Formats: sequence, C-alpha cells, structure tokens
Amino acid sequence: MRKPIIAGNWKMHKTLGEAESFFDSVKGKLPDAGRADTVICAPAPFLASLAECAGDEMPAVGAQTMHEEEKGAFTGEVSPVMLADLGVKYVIIGHSERREYYNESDESVNRKVKSAFAHGLVPIICVGESLEERESNKTAEKISGQVRAALEGVGAEQAAGAVIAYEPIWAIGTGKTATSDMANEACAEIRNTLAELYGQETAEQIRIQYGGSVKPENITELLAQPDIDGALVGGASLEPESFIALAEAA
Ligand code: PGA
Repeated sequence: MRKPIIAGNWKMHKTLGEAESFFDSVKGKLPDAGRADTVICAPAPFLASLAECAGDEMPAVGAQTMHEEEKGAFTGEVSPVMLADLGVKYVIIGHSERREYYNESDESVNRKVKSAFAHGLVPIICVGESLEERESNKTAEKISGQVRAALEGVGAEQAAGAVIAYEPIWAIGTGKTATSDMANEACAEIRNTLAELYGQETAEQIRIQYGGSVKPENITELLAQPDIDGALVGGASLEPESFIALAEAA
C-alpha cells in the first residue's frame, strides 16, 4: 500500500529563525516515518540549517525548485549536487508559480525531473489545469499531457519513486478547494496515464498528492479518496499546529 506523504510548500515565507523554531516545535509530534512521510519544502537559504535540524527524523527537507545542471555559469541558481550534499531529500519541480512566473516549460520540467533522480532526490512533480481549461473540459488532456512530458525518458523503476502533485491552479491560495470527488477524478486520470506509460503495477506504487487550499478541516476527506495519497500544502503548512494537524490526518 502507498504510504501517505504530506508536504509543506513554504514558498517565499519566514526568516531563518522562524524556520528553525518551526522545526523545533514540530519535532517528535509528527507521525513516524513508517506511517507517513512528512516534508517541508523551504526557501533555499534555510535548507542547510533545516537539513541539519531534521537529521534522519521527520519532517524531511525539500527544495522548491532547482536547476538541472550540476554546476556552471547560472547566476542565482541552485544545483541538485548542492541540494543532495546538504541532505535535502525532495524537490518540487514545475510548480504552477514556476511555470507561470519563470517560464518553466514541460521540457525544462522533464530535464529537472531526470536530474533530480540522477542525484538521488525525490521529485514532487506538479501538474494542474487553469480555470479556463477546466471550464472548457480540457482538464484530463492538460494533466495527462504534463505527466507524460515530465516523465519522458524516465524508466519505470525511477518513476515508481516519484511523487506527483495534482494542483488545480484555480485552487491554489484562493481558498477554493476542488471537491474531494473532483480531486480524486483528476488523480485517477493521472494514475491511468501512469499505467499507460509504465503498466498498472508501477502506477499503483506512485504516490499522488492533491494540492490547493488544503487545510486541517478538509484534508481527511481528501485523503479518504482512493487515488489521493497525500497533500502538497502552501498556506496551512506555515504554522506548526496546523502542519501537525495535517500530518496527523495521514
Ligand atoms: P495553498 O498552496 O495550499 O496555499 O493553496 C498550495 C501550493 O501552491 O502548493
């Protein structure tokens, strides 16, 4: 059975002191790693310190993006080698904010996914439709296309270890959650796409999260859905009490 995975995406929030105090507050209060994985994807300047705070305990530490190259003349970027060296375990790839504000394409998402695997990082691959796409019945086409593009050239063994986050763009930071049925329908569509790519057995191993205005009040219903294996949470992951409540629901 798939182990639930609850990941916080802090985006561009907190100071280092606030980040460290969050880790102090949640330590020992999260489900153990045998029951659920918990992850905090923090801003790059905090990763070294947080990875040290976390050690082998939960929450694991993730980055919010990375460059695909190991090193080079890429001013301002962070490489997968640097992340792995710090003890970072996860990296969000292709969040809709990166796709929209930093022009990340399906091709660059695919290069980053391959690079993350090559460096032992678990990619949390984000896909999702806009409101316009949903209203014109293009949701399935959009998300399955994004999944196929992100995993182009990735073998089944590596793909089995990926995490896919289904995040409808219209539900991010808006307070509008997809209903659990809508969310599950999209996650099932993603699993069908994975089965077409890798076969049913591998598709059953890949964890799929829902993201978009997840809160302690709605997470239980979302996680009860058969194809939703966890959540990628922005706003509600910022406070320790709220993150602990989200993790306990897993
Ligand atoms: P939200 O963000 O939970 O604040 O809607 C989710 C995300 O962007 O990953």
